[in-house]
Formats: sequence, structure tokens, C-alpha cells
Amino acid sequence: MTDKESGRKRTDKPWLQSISAIQHDRTAIVIGAGMAGAATARSLAERGWQVTVLDKHPQPAREASGNPQGMLYTRLSPNPTPLTQLVIQGYRHTLNLLQQAPEEIYQLCGLVQLPDSEKEKIRQQKLVDCGRYQALMEGMTAAQLTAKAGITVEQDGLFFPDGGWLKPPAFVGWLLEHDNIRFQGDSEVKTLHKVNDSWQLTMADNRTLSTTVVVIACGHHTSTLAQTKHLPLKAIRGQVTVVPATEQSMALRTVVCEDGYIAPASNGKHTLGATFHFDDPDQSCRASDHQLNLDNIANFAPALAEMLNFSDLDTNKLEGKTGYRCTTPDYLPMVGPLMDADLFRERFAALARNAKTRVEEEIPWLDGLYINTGHGSRGLITAPLSGDIVASQICGAPAPIPAELSAELHPGRFLARELIRGR
Ligand SMILES: Cc1cc2nc3c(=O)[nH]c(=O)nc-3n(C[C@H](O)[C@H](O)[C@H](O)COP(=O)(O)OP(=O)(O)OC[C@H]3O[C@@H](n4cnc5c(N)ncnc54)[C@H](O)[C@@H]3O)c2cc1C
Repeated sequence: MTDKESGRKRTDKPWLQSISAIQHDRTAIVIGAGMAGAATARSLAERGWQVTVLDKHPQPAREASGNPQGMLYTRLSPNPTPLTQLVIQGYRHTLNLLQQAPEEIYQLCGLVQLPDSEKEKIRQQKLVDCGRYQALMEGMTAAQLTAKAGITVEQDGLFFPDGGWLKPPAFVGWLLEHDNIRFQGDSEVKTLHKVNDSWQLTMADNRTLSTTVVVIACGHHTSTLAQTKHLPLKAIRGQVTVVPATEQSMALRTVVCEDGYIAPASNGKHTLGATFHFDDPDQSCRASDHQLNLDNIANFAPALAEMLNFSDLDTNKLEGKTGYRCTTPDYLPMVGPLMDADLFRERFAALARNAKTRVEEEIPWLDGLYINTGHGSRGLITAPLSGDIVASQICGAPAPIPAELSAELHPGRFLARELIRGR
């Protein structure tokens, strides 16, 4: 069914009305120079767009995307849930991107995934038995995993031959290195206003910029902007710990993860992590959190704890980094065009009475405004693919993922659910 006036297609999920391609001059501003913003900018730049990337920090990748080593890993589900479909495609997408990136910024050394409970053991066995993921991973005995990892592994688990680690800040830097991208630091966007057909951005120092297409990729700060403050995003504090490598620990050849993770040495240091704390605004590195990370590794890889002399380390002096994961209630990122939340609630109020009502109203799109955020603990895998999804939506080009999966990531899904559940 099609709306007579607008010609837009109607569906039973109103927030999925297709957005008409707006006329623009192929210039865009991306707010946020983390993995999500940089990947979006790169994808637009590859399509011939001129992109300005703004960040409140002087340099890119200073927040969640700023860890010295990030793991390319993913928890799969035996069922093909939307999240599993996304991570499988995202994993391949990131691996393909890395083939073009400088070799010194990543290591696809393989990744060992160990179960942290009996339940997880059963889940891993189901993953092996379902036969769906043979191209991605293999079930292995402790002895086989020991041979892969180069250190003693005490449990059976999974091996991901293409997994590994990369340096997120260097990856972000490489994504931004394109003739069509201009990075502008010290540019905190405070407000966005529609002025005629353009978006006017005002910075903390009152400078203004104007453009027709804006992508918000602000990680856990996304809710500070008026157009995105309604989105149900949560910030989860995390801390990684960096420990000096020893002669023995250089034997570690793969990433090993269970509840936490540890990577092979890079520049004489191993990154291990990461803690998980809700409602915790403390941005400093805490000795107690370093201890949590060390205890965690010692629990699933005691051989490594010994090789790295954990018992002699002074947690008050260890290096590390804190950051905030940005998560959504359904753990899927928010990727796509934004709408005016108040107008949507007003126009689609009938959904609160009957979720199946076919409302003959147009979606109040915020034309030219898009979002790419909510990547939780797996941004290395989901943010680059999501950048490509947003770029394809902006250009009106075919999406890199099936339409049903795009629908699962649509930022409008929560507004509609909120109305329906508030019934
Ligand atoms: C401790 C920790 C460990 C992790 N480990 C892994 C891992 O091993 N593997 C993995 O895949 N993922 C991991 N993650 C998750 C991953 O780091 C994130 O999913 C990813 O970095 C998110 O990228 P982003 O671009 O969305 O957010 P960010 O990297 O936070 O970028 C957002 C950017 O927006 C800027 N910004 C915000 N508001 C404004 C504004 N108003 N104006 C201008 N600029 C603004 C910020 O300065 C920032 O640079 C980890 C996260 C944490 C915290």
C-alpha cells in the first residue's frame, strides 16, 4: 500500500516507510571520530562524498575506540538470530577491510574461546553440532587449543582461525586517511537545527557549520543531542589493563578469551580486559579494576598468570584505559535515519490502542539526519559494517545486508515498541 501524497510505501511496521532520497550536494558531516564515525565517513568517501568528521577531542579515537588492542571476537548463537546474522556479516566485513589496511595495525593470529560455565559449555557444543558455523570456527580439545595458543589451555573450547586483535586507534586513523575526508578536532557539537533544507551545527565555542546530511556517531554521548535524547542507550564502564610481556609470555600466539580476554604481545605489552560496570561515571583507571582483570585471566589461563608474574605486579602502577560501551536494550546497534520522536508519538498514538492499526500518517523523518551507534562490546565487528549500511541508505544504494536485518537495526524500532507496550 502506498501513501497517495508522498508515494512512500507503507508496511505493517510504520517506522520502515522508505525514506525518499533527498537532493544533496554529496557533502556530509559525521559527528564522532570513533570506529563508527570513521567507518561511516570512509564508506561515504569511497562513494565520492566529501566528508567532514568532527570530534570534541583534539585527536580521533580517544574514547571507547581508544584501547591499545581490541579483539576481533564474537559470541554466536546456535539459532540464526538477527544479532548472530549481523555479527557474522560484520566479522567478514571487518576482515575484508583489514586486507586493505597496513599490516602493522592488526594480527589475525586466531582466537581461542573458552566456556565460563557448564551452560556455556553446552552452548558451545550446540554451536559445533548445528554445523552452521564451520567456516568461522571449530570445536577443539584442550590439547588442540594448547597447540594453537602456545600456552597451556585447560579446557575444551572453540577456535576461530580468522580471529585476532587490532589497534583500534590506528584502525580509526587509517579509515580517516582518505582524500575525501577532513578531520576536525576540538569540535564538540552542542546543537543541531534545521535551517531551510540544511542542518546547522553549533559547537561548544559557538562556531557553526552547515550541511544537508549529518551522521551522529557519538557513542555513549549520543543522548546529549536533542534529536537523539529519546533513544534508550546505556553507558557501561569498562577498563582494560596493560601488562609488560615477559620472555615466557611471548609464547602466547593467539587471543585467549573466556569471560575476559588477553592478546599476544604488541610492542612488548599485553592488553587484557575488560571490566563491566553500570552507572559508574568514574573515568580514572582504578587499581581494583586492574585486579579484577588479573584475577579473571588467572582464573581461565593460570599458565599465563604465572608467565606474566601477576602476583608481583603493583596494580597501582599498571597502565590501562577506561571507556564506555554504548548499548541498546536488544543489544543490536542503532543504524539508520532518525525521526522526530514527539511528532511520531503524536501521529502514531493509535498504535497504543491497537498495535495492528494501519496509521495513515507519514513518518516525521528528520531528513538528512542519520545515526550509527550502540555497538556495545563488539564495535570492531559491527561498527564498520554499520558505517556501510548508513552510507548506502544516504546514497539510496543497495544495502550490504538483507532488508529484514536492516529493519532490526532501525533507530525507530524503540519508539514504535514504546507506543505499543504503553498500550
Ligand atoms: C574497556 C572496553 C573494551 C572493549 N573491548 C572490545 C573488544 O575487544 N572488541 C570489540 O569489538 N569491542 C570492544 N569494545 C567495544 C568497542 O570499543 C566499541 O563498541 C566501539 O569503540 C564503539 O565505537 P563508537 O565509534 O561507537 O564510539 P566511540 O569510540 O566512543 O566514539 C564516539 C566519538 O564521538 C565523540 N563525540 C561524542 N559526542 C560528541 C559531540 N557532541 N561532538 C563531537 N564529538 C563527540 C567522542 O569524543 C568519541 O570520539 C570495548 C569497549 C570498552 C569500553
